[in-house]
Amino acid sequence: HGAINMLGLAKRLNAKILQASTSEVYGDPSVHPQPEDYWGHVNAIGPRACYDEGKRCAETLFFDYHRQHGLPIKVVRIFNTYGPRMHPNDGRVVSNFIMQALRGEPITIYGDGSQTRSFCYVDDLVEGMLRFMDTGAEHTGPLNIGNPGEFTMLELAEKVLRLTGSSSPIVHKELPQDDPKQRRPDIARAKALLDWEPQVPLDEGLARTIAYFRQRFVT
Ligand code: UDP
Repeated sequence: HGAINMLGLAKRLNAKILQASTSEVYGDPSVHPQPEDYWGHVNAIGPRACYDEGKRCAETLFFDYHRQHGLPIKVVRIFNTYGPRMHPNDGRVVSNFIMQALRGEPITIYGDGSQTRSFCYVDDLVEGMLRFMDTGAEHTGPLNIGNPGEFTMLELAEKVLRLTGSSSPIVHKELPQDDPKQRRPDIARAKALLDWEPQVPLDEGLARTIAYFRQRFVT
């Protein structure tokens, strides 16, 4: 509903409007890595569907407003992003693992930890979005923005343990239903259009994020 309200406002003002869409539109993907022209694999009635289908519906509305009213739209599909100023308790894996490691609590891996994600440092995402906003109106997207470096959750846990120097044990918890098994952006389109690619490797971005969490929440 928020999307259609904003589209109405953008139409009235003839303003360029950006949708922060998501890699979740690809669901539990059967094509790997995921290019923008992959239609995705989403369970419409699963527990994640409210988010996935909500974002997919918002993309639909953006493209309908673009077609029907010529509204200048930009749709960016954001893959897993992390960095300083994440909320320590929002439940995402990077913040969970870092807080657990810094507090000496068990690191909670859901399932066997073989599922993969590709983590993009926040500054790289912002740079990509700014460059995209400066492209001509013919460039509507959807455009993947993310870091193609792909890691298992077990690898992520080991990195966080090493970078924090923590001796937290690893425990396994139940894997949430419909948890995507693999995820990695195909960023060929963004590279060609924006002359952009991520600059901050995971180890470095994690070190910066750990420094932030250490100073802000664990003193
Ligand atoms: N995850 C995990 N432990 C946690 C939080 C998440 O193993 O404490 C896993 C989760 O099951 C998923 C991955 O880490 O496979 C990324 O989860 P997150 O919620 O950060 O992002 P998303 O699933 O939306 O990509």
